[in-house]
Amino acid sequence: MKRVVVIGGGISGLAAAHRLWELSRQKPDALQITLLEAGERLGGVIETRRQDGFLLEGGPDSFLSEKPAAVELCKRIGLEARLLGTREEFRRSFIYLKGRLVPVPAGFYLIAPTRLEALAGTRLLSVPGKFRALLELVIPPKKGTAEEDESVASFVRRRLGREVLDRIAQPMIAGIYSADPEKLSLRATFPRFLDLERDSGSVIRGLLRKQEGREKADREASGPRYSLFLTLRDGIGSLVDGLRRRMTGVRFRTGFSAARIERGEKWEIFSKEGERLEAESLLIAAPAPEAARLLGGVDSVLAAELSGIPYESVATVNLGFDQNELSDLPRGFGFVVPAVEKRNLIGCTFSSFKFAGRATEGKILLRLFIGGAAGRGFLQLSDSNLEQAVLRDIREILGAGNRPEFVSVRRHPSSMPQYGVGHLERVDRIFKRCEAVPGLYLAGNAYRGIGLPDCIREAEQAAERAWYHFQKCQVQSDTQIV
Ligand SMILES: Cc1cc2nc3c(=O)[nH]c(=O)nc-3n(C[C@H](O)[C@H](O)[C@H](O)COP(=O)(O)OP(=O)(O)OC[C@H]3O[C@@H](n4cnc5c(N)ncnc54)[C@H](O)[C@@H]3O)c2cc1C
Repeated sequence: MKRVVVIGGGISGLAAAHRLWELSRQKPDALQITLLEAGERLGGVIETRRQDGFLLEGGPDSFLSEKPAAVELCKRIGLEARLLGTREEFRRSFIYLKGRLVPVPAGFYLIAPTRLEALAGTRLLSVPGKFRALLELVIPPKKGTAEEDESVASFVRRRLGREVLDRIAQPMIAGIYSADPEKLSLRATFPRFLDLERDSGSVIRGLLRKQEGREKADREASGPRYSLFLTLRDGIGSLVDGLRRRMTGVRFRTGFSAARIERGEKWEIFSKEGERLEAESLLIAAPAPEAARLLGGVDSVLAAELSGIPYESVATVNLGFDQNELSDLPRGFGFVVPAVEKRNLIGCTFSSFKFAGRATEGKILLRLFIGGAAGRGFLQLSDSNLEQAVLRDIREILGAGNRPEFVSVRRHPSSMPQYGVGHLERVDRIFKRCEAVPGLYLAGNAYRGIGLPDCIREAEQAAERAWYHFQKCQVQSDTQIV
């Protein structure tokens, strides 16, 4: 029997262990899978909790359906019927600008419109700002863009102008990556915009064409149709529970923090307390700085590359209100706040408007997102000061009256890897280096996507590489015996 140890019990480690479990199911005695998690519970940043009739997400609250890995995984583990789309009657988002919530123009795709009339009518941009954005249609593509990386800010400024960057792109992107767009790699985060520029000569023209194609495909599509964002009826935590329940035979060791690893004939993994485990393969799904620390004695060059990936801290604040306290809350999924507004919030999801079952009748649940590159100092505040600061913002922005029924702060220190310019080249070097170390595999949100579907896809691919390596070794040793 071969042994594989997975370090890290977030979604990446769980999805990797699960894929190994699936692949080895035909030969149950072929593989022993052990998953080590430093914390006392599985899920990493995923944390769903019920309180007084509210369903609180302390970490991620949804995932994109257009990247299939998360939906596919839910289907395979029997959660398809628990998938929950957004409440279409509330489909609308806002940007907080100059003291009011301005609707994001219909069909706006992160930085650019898919409908020109929506751009023309928006109050988010000044008249010169709109003309500048429309110039995008005739600005020629930058030469050499396909090869060279560029920051998201530089790309948006060059194609659509400064106003689109400051008022639309920056807050939308901060809401996903908690990053400074001046440093964020376009190739690592939104390669689609580069493709649109290259293939259509203009992002707007490319989006308009794709929109036509999508409308046609939608008309002809069969099978279930999902909204852009999906969650699970019982929260994202039920994905963690579902995975754990399904993996019979897998050893889950919570409270086991891998302190040191050594590579001899086999991998040796030591806990802080000195417990020693052995394995033929090691799959590290812990954050990159932790992978760097563990691999320091195995490959110092690999460790140095891993430790070069910077991280930011974020936090969520769930606020439960009686609806009378928020009677003027506009119908929508929530809002994001541009850095130029100098507020404490990155964004706020109207959770009970976005998804059904997040609050009981007559109650409203809000989920605030704070911290990131622009909010580092803010996260230094104590919980009670932080609470007061976000409540001040919420009162000023939404006009919420007295205190909410509860406030729940969940901090995620150094949880968001920052994909700086040149990130993908670094990731290529990391994976090349890793391939040269037999039996070592990496997964996690540090490499090729931070969203849940990206983490799942990457983790499953790492597990498949580990499994096929075992298979190859098996064939080789069988051949030697013959
Ligand atoms: C607040 C927040 C909101 C988000 N919202 C969304 C969203 O709505 N949609 C979306 O798609 N994505 C969202 N994301 C991103 C996504 O949730 C994360 O990128 C993803 O869950 C990360 O999973 P992971 O397993 O790679 O890392 P983590 O969840 O960080 O898990 C790593 C695990 O490794 C463990 N570990 C570390 N060191 C060791 C060690 N030495 N030994 C053993 N275990 C160790 C840690 O304890 C941790 O449990 C959000 C992220 C955050 C923080």
